[in-house]
Amino acid sequence: MTHDPHCLFCKIAQGQIPSRKVYEDDQIYAFHDIHPWAPVHFLMIPKAHIPSLAQVEGQHEALLGRMMTLVPKLALQEGCNPYPEGGWRVVTNTGAEGGQEVHHLHIHVMGGPRPWFKG
Ligand code: 5GP
Ligand code: ZN
Repeated sequence: MTHDPHCLFCKIAQGQIPSRKVYEDDQIYAFHDIHPWAPVHFLMIPKAHIPSLAQVEGQHEALLGRMMTLVPKLALQEGCNPYPEGGWRVVTNTGAEGGQEVHHLHIHVMGGPRPWFKG
């Protein structure tokens, strides 16, 4: 598994920088966003360093499928309300024009009662 020693989210995934853990397995780490936009706001990342969705290839199909499949379980666990009255938003900012600030692939999961703090 590849890591970038200068990458913030690689350091978080490896426990070198503290975070509030939501979920962890051999390939995936999820943790609360430090500046939440919504009552529930956590990030899911692969433990391997992938800079963004732009670098995703066929070899990542199972990993991305696993991440997306985990979303409903973790969203409800963290306090999102059930579909359809509740629900959540999944966002992956990609590149400068996509608004990406941290260049390690991550999925934002946001939810909880409206209004949200942002968006
Ligand atoms: P992006 O703009 O790249 O899609 O989102 C990066 C997200 O990472 C932002 O929502 C930001 O609040 C969050 N973030 C940045 N640094 C840290 C950190 O050190 N810890 C945690 N938990 N979240 C962070
Ligand atoms: Zn990284």
